[in-house]
Amino acid sequence: MPEVIRRVLVANRGEIALRIIRACHEEHLEAVAVYSEADRLSPHVRAANAAALLGPPPASESYLSIPKLLDAARATGCQAIHPGYGFLAERATFARAVRDAGLVFVGPPAEAIQAMGDKTEARRRMQAAGVPIVPGTIRPLQDAAEAAREAKRTGYPVLLKAVAGGGGKGMRLVTAEGEIASAFAAARSEAVKAFGGGAVYIEKYLERPRHIEIQILADAHGRVIALGERECSIQRRHQKLVEEAPSVAVSPALRRRLSDAATAAAGAVGYVGAGTIEFLLAPGGEFYFLEMNTRIQVEHPVTELVYGVDLVREQLRIAGGQPMRVHPGTLHPRGHAIECRITAEDPFNEFLPATGVLQYLRVPSGPGLRWDGGVEAGNAVTLYYDPLIAKLVAWGETREAAIERMRQALGELVIVGLPTSQAFHLRVMEDPEFLRGEVDITYLERAGPRLRERDLMPGLERAVAVAAALLADERRTSARPQAHSDHSPIRPSTWAVVARQEGLRQ
Ligand code: ADP
Repeated sequence: MPEVIRRVLVANRGEIALRIIRACHEEHLEAVAVYSEADRLSPHVRAANAAALLGPPPASESYLSIPKLLDAARATGCQAIHPGYGFLAERATFARAVRDAGLVFVGPPAEAIQAMGDKTEARRRMQAAGVPIVPGTIRPLQDAAEAAREAKRTGYPVLLKAVAGGGGKGMRLVTAEGEIASAFAAARSEAVKAFGGGAVYIEKYLERPRHIEIQILADAHGRVIALGERECSIQRRHQKLVEEAPSVAVSPALRRRLSDAATAAAGAVGYVGAGTIEFLLAPGGEFYFLEMNTRIQVEHPVTELVYGVDLVREQLRIAGGQPMRVHPGTLHPRGHAIECRITAEDPFNEFLPATGVLQYLRVPSGPGLRWDGGVEAGNAVTLYYDPLIAKLVAWGETREAAIERMRQALGELVIVGLPTSQAFHLRVMEDPEFLRGEVDITYLERAGPRLRERDLMPGLERAVAVAAALLADERRTSARPQAHSDHSPIRPSTWAVVARQEGLRQ
C-alpha cells in the first residue's frame, strides 16, 4: 500500500500545471512545480508550494527527462507525480519508473497505458470486449502487398495509420489502389521518424463523421462511470480547436450506448483514473472506437461545467486509493459548455506558430466563464512547447446561450504582442453552419475560406493595432527602466483612454 499522499509533483507546465496545482490545494495537498530555464517566470512556478528547476528549455532536457523528474520528486519529498497531458503522460515507461521509485503515478496502471498506446493491440482488445471498431486490420501490415490486399478488402478510401501514432501524426489517406504501395512506404518511414517504430495498419476512411468522445472515471474499488460526451469535430490537421458538451448529435439513447461502450473499453484494460474513449460517429448513427487517451484531456473543462464534477480532484482522490465522489445516479448534463483553444498561432497564415512576449492581456470575465490560462503579460511564448496560451470556456443554459457568452468573451479578450487564434474563434461563433450544429471532422476544410473572408471584428482588431502602436511609441520615448514590477508596458489608465477614443467598451 502506498503511503498517504501529502505532496504532489506536477510534471508539466502551462495551464494544465496551474490547473493541477489548484486542484491539489483544494484537496489540501501541497504541490511542487517543475520548470525549465525558459519558464522561470511562468505562473505555475509561483502558484506551487515549491518549485524545482529541471534544466535547459528543450523538453528532452527538462519536462521529458524521467531521471530529472524523479530526482525532483525525491528531493522535494513528494509521494506522487501527476503527469498532466502531453510530455510523459502516456508513456508506460514513465508510469512504471514512477511506481518503481516507490511513488504514486496519478494515472492508470502502466499496462493500461501500454495496451491503449499500441493502436492495433487496442483494436484487438476492443473487438474482444464487444466495442465496435473502425473496419480495417487489427495487426500491423507486413509489406506493401499485404497493405494492397487489406485495403482492397476494407474498401477505398482507407487510412494508413501508425500503430504508435498520436497527436494527429502518422496518418495517410489513400483513395485508390495505384497509390497504396508508395503510401505504405511513406507512412512507414514517417512512423519511424515520428514514433521510432515503423508499424502501420489500415482503417476504413469514414466520410464526414463526427469526433465524439466519452469521459470516464474509474476507481480502484471497481467502479467505472461515464460522464457524457464531448463534441470535438472542429479540428485542423486532426488537432482539436473547439470542443463542446453535450453534442447536438447525441440523443439520451445514443449517449447510453456510447457510455456502455466506453465503460466496457475501460474495463477491458483494467483502467483506473480519468480517461477518454474517442469514437467516430457516422452520419447514420453508427459509432466506432478510435482510441483511448489514458490521461486528463485538454478539453476536460467542458465536461466539468456540464456535470459539476472536478475531474482533476477526482484523479487525485482515486490515486490516493479513495473511492470517487461521483455517483452515476446523480449524473445528468446541465446546460451547455464550449471551449476555444486560444493559441499563439496565426489563423490567417496557415496557423503558423508565433513566438514573442505577450505584452498585454485582458482576460474576459462574467457569469458562466472560465479562463484556464498558463501565460500572463510579460511571459514569452517560445517554439520549445505547444502554443496554447489559454482555454476559454463558456457555459450557458442552452447551446445558444453558451455561444453568445463565448462571443462576448472573445470580444472582451485582448492579447497584444503576438498573433493568436482569437479572431478565428470569433468567426466560428458567428458561422451559420456552426450555429446550426452542423459540424463534422471536415467542417474546417469546408468553412475555412468563408471564415477567412469575413471581417467580423474590426473594433477589436483596431484596438489591438492601436495598442501595439502605443506600445511601440512608449518603447521609443521611454528608454528608462521600469520603476515597478508591473510587466505590462501599457498602464491601464493609458489603455482606458485609447479604448474610449476608439469607442470600445471597457
Ligand atoms: P491521433 O492518435 O494521432 O490523435 P486518432 O486516431 O485519434 O489519431 O485520429 C485523429 C483524428 O483523425 C480523428 O479525430 C479524426 O478527425 C481523424 N480520423 C482518424 N481515423 C479516421 C478514420 N478512420 N476515418 C476518418 N477520419 C479519421
